[in-house]
Amino acid sequence: MHFTPEPDTERFIRNLPKTETHLHIEGALPFELLQKVAPDSYAEPPASWAVDHRFDSFAQFEQELLAMAGQWYTSPKRYREAARHIFEGLVYRQNVHYVEVSFASGMMDAHGLDARAVARAIREAAPRGLHVRVFMGIHHDGYREGNMSWIDDSLTWDELDGLDLHGTETAPLGPWAAELWARARDAGKVTKAHAGEFCGPDFVRRMVQELGVRRIEHGVRAVEDPEVLALLASEGVTLDVCPISNVKLGVVDDWSSHPLKALMDSGVRCTLSTDDPISFGNTLMDEYAMLSVECGFDHARLARVARAGFEVALISEADRSQWLSDFDSIVEASLGRETTLRKV
Ligand SMILES: [Zn+2]
Repeated sequence: MHFTPEPDTERFIRNLPKTETHLHIEGALPFELLQKVAPDSYAEPPASWAVDHRFDSFAQFEQELLAMAGQWYTSPKRYREAARHIFEGLVYRQNVHYVEVSFASGMMDAHGLDARAVARAIREAAPRGLHVRVFMGIHHDGYREGNMSWIDDSLTWDELDGLDLHGTETAPLGPWAAELWARARDAGKVTKAHAGEFCGPDFVRRMVQELGVRRIEHGVRAVEDPEVLALLASEGVTLDVCPISNVKLGVVDDWSSHPLKALMDSGVRCTLSTDDPISFGNTLMDEYAMLSVECGFDHARLARVARAGFEVALISEADRSQWLSDFDSIVEASLGRETTLRKV
């Protein structure tokens, strides 16, 4: 869509085995499904797909996203159908092998949906060749009287791999979160949190120290504080970064000043994902292309970002060593060919 790398780089990106570890299913609603249910309102793609579009605020972004997602996601069956479209696009068109996708607990409450059935529907939609892990996102005010009992129960569901803290980052966060996140880990779930997007590095530190997460969604503003960067590196925290989202939401001023390279160079592991493609009009390959065209990422650095997704994937250690060795062979063959060509 947005960025046109050199043909050899485009080929390299296409062939690179990839992961998506920061993807909201509501925000990944395929546009053709939205058009099916609301053809008049969505005859054309959203204005926010334009490369120079900037959202006024997170609230505006969230409102537009929910207006689109709410039209489609009204049953577990609809989640399954959308998930199938999304996953097939990832595995067949973008060479993605592993995805961590979240659904919003707020959508369950808003539409009276059975969250366990939704989680199951998403898992069942995984095509051959794609490993899917399912997270439930809960907003800062998303755990309350009316839904505590089913959210507590969700920690026992095999269909759910973990929890993710979603929503307006600047909204107050009560002590329930640290307590629930600790219980989730005790129950064998993986915990994540969105941070370092609209709040600065202090909130990133808080999520690591108070919520105990080792996976931060975004986290890019950690770059503002060397002590937080050192904490992330020493605790082995991974940032699931989405640069196109960051620029369109005004977290980062422009493409070339995205801090991904600085984060990586400070020793923090970073992966690459799309966040909410229905709002940003991006694909995973666009994210790699942007880094090449605007941020000067060479092939080796693009490969390093892609590899990080396999390094943190929720798979057995035996599978991981197999995947990483396959990944390294593919990349080495590709980089080796380039070196030979340059010598000629
Ligand atoms: Zn996100």
